[in-house]
Amino acid sequence: AKDGGRNQLQFYTSEMNARVTERTLIEGHLRNALSRGEFVLYFQPRIDCLTGRVAGLEALIRWLQPELGLVQPDRFIGVAEETGRIVEIGEWVLVEACRQARAWQDAGLPRIPVAVNVSARQFRQAGFVQEVFGALEAAGLPAQYLELELTESLMMQNVDGVIAAMRQLKEGGVRLSIDDFGTGYSSLSYLRRFPLDYLKIDRSFVRDMLHDKPGEAIVRSMITLGHSLGCRIIAEGVETRDQLGYLTREGCDEIQGFLCSRPVPVEAAAEMLHAES
Ligand code: C2E
Ligand code: CA
Ligand code: CA
Ligand code: CA
Repeated sequence: AKDGGRNQLQFYTSEMNARVTERTLIEGHLRNALSRGEFVLYFQPRIDCLTGRVAGLEALIRWLQPELGLVQPDRFIGVAEETGRIVEIGEWVLVEACRQARAWQDAGLPRIPVAVNVSARQFRQAGFVQEVFGALEAAGLPAQYLELELTESLMMQNVDGVIAAMRQLKEGGVRLSIDDFGTGYSSLSYLRRFPLDYLKIDRSFVRDMLHDKPGEAIVRSMITLGHSLGCRIIAEGVETRDQLGYLTREGCDEIQGFLCSRPVPVEAAAEMLHAES
């Protein structure tokens, strides 16, 4: 038992070391990632359940690090948030997404909004709202083609300040979504105060939806709730025809997920848009 205990301790220690090493590695490489142009945007379409057409494209960041290869956001966004580097990375994403959306329009492709994820730290920066309008102006992109995805947890801290910033964005024509809905602790009484256009049901609910009756009921009530708030409903992480069928029957407006497409590089996204025209 004594030896077992020691082995266990060693096991935990080496796992902790591995985590610290990974973090240090990522943090170090992140420092120069922007200046070296290592980030790229991928795009994932979402599809209108009624028409089957592309209703929007979500910009998702990827990091092409020469030594680490293609790094997915789950490995570095958290670190970037802790170190504060997410602010400049987020600004790059915003500018690049607006530029890309405008470039597609200039190429004669259908005018479809692009959605950008905003981290809490970025949103709280003084001047964030001006930064958004600046990015639109620099790209020459009308505001209606930009959507910002805000998480529930972001919105529930300093509610009044968040609402004020959201109103300014909304009045300027930008569309707003609540992302990963159901994973945070939104107070239902607050929700109606936010000027939201879209509610995105987190993919964990879609994944578990058809396993049992409560799973179905939860998603059905999220759709009803979202509609009563005046939002269009987007289901995330839709992978099967059965999920699509259930969501469509329950009145979900749009779906996003591997069933339609994985996130793809810019050229493939352009082909998708071309097929729509
Ligand atoms: P998210 O905003 O919830 O983005 C959706 C994630 O779900 C994406 O992961 C996407 O690839 C994945 N996904 C889409 N459809 C399916 C499906 O059918 N099944 C499964 N299993 N997964 C699906 P990704 O691209 O790895 O991004 C992960 C998270 O990283 C995002 O979650 C978002 O929170 C964050 N992120 C990505 N890009 C940015 C960014 O530019 N800025 C910020 N602040 N966060 C970002
Ligand atoms: Ca998102
Ligand atoms: Ca999400
Ligand atoms: Ca997520």
